[in-house]
This record gives sequence, C-alpha cells and structure tokens, in this order.
Amino acid sequence: MTAQFIAPIPLASHLSAARITAFAGHRAEQCRIEVVAETGSTNADLLARIAGGVHSRTLNALTAPTLLVAQTQTAGRGRAGRTWLTAPSAALTFSLAWPFAAPLQALVGLPLAVGATIAEILADFGVEVQLKWPNDVLHKGRKLAGILIETATAPDRQLWAVIGIGINLAMPQQLQEQIGRPAANLPLPAAQDRELLLGSLLSGLAQNMRQFESEGLAAFVERWNRLHAFAGQQVLILDQGKTLHEGRALGIDQIGRLLLQTDAGDSPLAIMAGDISLRPKEG
Ligand code: ATP
Repeated sequence: MTAQFIAPIPLASHLSAARITAFAGHRAEQCRIEVVAETGSTNADLLARIAGGVHSRTLNALTAPTLLVAQTQTAGRGRAGRTWLTAPSAALTFSLAWPFAAPLQALVGLPLAVGATIAEILADFGVEVQLKWPNDVLHKGRKLAGILIETATAPDRQLWAVIGIGINLAMPQQLQEQIGRPAANLPLPAAQDRELLLGSLLSGLAQNMRQFESEGLAAFVERWNRLHAFAGQQVLILDQGKTLHEGRALGIDQIGRLLLQTDAGDSPLAIMAGDISLRPKEG
C-alpha cells in the first residue's frame, strides 16, 4: 500500500447546507443548496428535475441555480458511459445546476472553465493541481477530480447545464485497485473541512459561471493554459483505445480545442473534445 492512500481523514458524519451557505457568501446568494445522505448520481437527479419542469407534481423543479451534494454517491457517471467510483463519504460528490441564457453551442468550452475554476479554488487552499484536457484535474500526475457536464432544456425552454464534480478525499486501496489508473486524494488540511471547501467551490463557480456567460471561454483560455498538465509534451489522442493522433500538446485555443503539433503538418491540429481521450506518450 502506498502512503498516498493510507491516512484516513476524520470525516464529519453529516454535511450541513447551512454551513455551506455561510461559507459560500454573497457570490452564491441566489443559489439553493441541498444535501442528501445518499443518491445514485447528483447529475441524474438534477437533470430529472429540470426535465420535469415547474408543473411536475412528483419532482421538485428547479427555479434557481442549485447545488446538490451527496454524502455518498453510488452510481457516479463519467463521460461516454464511464463510471465515477467513490467509497461512502470518502469523496466530495456534488452537482451544480446553472441556467444559461445562451445557445447550447456556447457551452462547448464549459468543462475547461470549470476545470480552471476548481484549480484556482484549490490553490487558495494550498493545493496545486494541473488540468488534463478536456475534463480532468490532476494532483502530482494523478487524477484528483473529474468533471462531467450534461445539459437539459426545461419544458419552459430554459437551458440548464448540470456541472457534476467528484473530488477524492480518502480513497480506499481496494477502490484504487478497481479503478486501475493512478488516483490522488485531496491533501490535508484542504480536505479537513468539507463544508468550507464546498462553500468556496460554490462561490468560485457562481462567480465564474456569470463570467463565462458574459465573456465566454475567452476569459479562461490563458488561465487554463497556465495549468496545462502536458504543455509541450508528447501525447496520444485516443478513441476507444485506438490512437487517432500523436504530437506535442500546445494548449487550448479560443474555443477549447486542444492544439496538437504533429510531425505531419506545419500548423497545429485543433482537436475537438467529443468522446476522445488524451494520454501522455510513455518513454
Ligand atoms: P479522459 O482521460 O478522456 O478524461 P477518462 O477515462 O478520464 O477519460 P472520465 O469520464 O473523465 O474518463 O472519467 C471516468 C474514468 O475515471 C473512469 O473510467 C476511471 O478510469 C476513472 N475514475 C473513476 N473513478 C475515479 C476516481 N474516484 N478517481 C480517479 N479516477 C477515477
């Protein structure tokens, strides 16, 4: 067992929405905050409530930005049907539903803006992270957090983005083995007070979602590129395990495509996220 996965964090048994609200402060004033002990997927729950709309009798419809925090998530989702695995109370698992007054295509770069936001907030807690295109947050080269953004249009035609985030706090060794790829835990003391961390993340996200809405990804491109985990490194772009491209990762462009310098071309290729994956080239 490596030292990384030993130290259990003394997790509080119950998260308080009131404390998260207090820590989030004025930037998140218009946000609702809900905490549940356990659910399958916080993203799925919020998406169902958006689809149900305000006239739904069975679902508690969303009328304002809403943060849903699950102490335990049993069916966390990743991109393209992949799974996000966590042990009970050993991770922060939450989703923020945010209504956007923008067309769907304006949200293409949103995962990158969210990644930069998470990195900036964690830096305030003394935790350095890097970003792996398009949607992973790494700590010391290991995956610390995942981001999954899904969208839905309510019956009143309001477009919502549901921003799902999972951050590892104290992953058991057995789960690490099950995942089979290097994962990181949030170091102490950042992981000590989950309500403070959630409040700070909500505050930062609320501020940056407003900025994304008014300025688009342009406001985040430099910030993302400063945090780029593989800047200047040789990487592979994979589609279901098959190599599509190989080259030097330069960074993202104004619409969030990864610029890849290949041997073949003079100008870099611009890669759209889709369902493809980036891996560092070994050796
Ligand atoms: P990409 O590298 O393209 O982002 P990905 O494999 O990281 O793809 P995601 O959808 O971002 O895919 O995340 C899901 C994947 O993350 C899972 O398939 C698994 O490999 C890994 N994973 C699942 N749970 C965790 C966790 N708690 N911590 C770290 N990694 C995890």
